[in-house]
Amino acid sequence: MLILMRGDATPEQIALVEATVARMGFRAQAMPGQQRVAIGVVGNDRRLDDTPLRGLDGVHEIVHVSAPYKQVSREWRKTPTIVKLDNGTEIGGDALVVMAGPCAVESREQLFATADYVRAAGATVLRGGAYKPRTSPYAFQGLGEEGLQLLAEARQRTGLAIVTEAIDIESAHACAEVADILQVGARNMQNFALLRAIGRIGKPVLLKRGPSATIKEWLLAAEYLLAEGNAQVMLCERGIRSFDDATRNVMDVTAIPLVQSLSHLPVVADPSHATGVRALVPAVARASVAAGAHAIIVETHPEPRRALSDGPQALTEADFRAMMAQLQAVAGALGRPLASL
Ligand code: PEP
Ligand code: MN
Repeated sequence: MLILMRGDATPEQIALVEATVARMGFRAQAMPGQQRVAIGVVGNDRRLDDTPLRGLDGVHEIVHVSAPYKQVSREWRKTPTIVKLDNGTEIGGDALVVMAGPCAVESREQLFATADYVRAAGATVLRGGAYKPRTSPYAFQGLGEEGLQLLAEARQRTGLAIVTEAIDIESAHACAEVADILQVGARNMQNFALLRAIGRIGKPVLLKRGPSATIKEWLLAAEYLLAEGNAQVMLCERGIRSFDDATRNVMDVTAIPLVQSLSHLPVVADPSHATGVRALVPAVARASVAAGAHAIIVETHPEPRRALSDGPQALTEADFRAMMAQLQAVAGALGRPLASL
């Protein structure tokens, strides 16, 4: 960290900054320049909380030299993290992984039908919410425990791994009983108590980007999980809020290679919540694969018109099959195989 003093800072003001740095437990190294004095903070191996320094008279600017996150960064870990699931699926390597299923688990028939066709088309992970974080309290909130039981049966039936969302600490423990991957939804990205609890559970985590979260905030949320000792974390871009309401969200395709340059964690793309529009999902999925996403998570439903949540963005079985062929072609062009069971 570097503290840039104002050009007219007095020796007393500079001395107070130095004393404050010392009180924080570090050494201040003053570097007088032509225009101003810069004070380097020596001896810190991490990002410091600069609050004690910010309000001091004579301080012009505080520059953080290192990133605020640590364990998620590429500097911390040079080799890419590969998330390994019990059914053999690996996320973060060369192979493109597809996670697919309904937004919400609605019934045995609905879930099994979906699981069967996504498995046949090449997905290796089944998604489905048993606990749903709905915008309206009057909307379908999920089947809860019964939904988890159905997911467990679907895994038994198909061999697909299960990803399902925990909406609070209580449901996190319930989901951990059956899930291969615990999903932290966009709305909960900065629920730090939940992140800590899920970090301690230790199962692989799919961390969605918050609708208005910066890349830095997203990586800091992931840092909570790693700080609890859980390194099996995937970052999922699912679209962010913008001024334009033509689509549900705006897919930040740039975030995919950007986050890969900053972090060793695998990156997943969710074209369903990014667009909210069935017809747009395959193109955004293709773009995400082209941009380097390690995995795609997508919503599909045997009868989208009857879906209890997110029907307008759910692919039909035929749409899903067609998209899978396209994704295989895009991945293939980049020398990447489609993961298989
Ligand atoms: C979901 O995956 O069903 C979901 C609610 O996603 P998000 O948290 O990205 O809105
Ligand atoms: Mn959904």
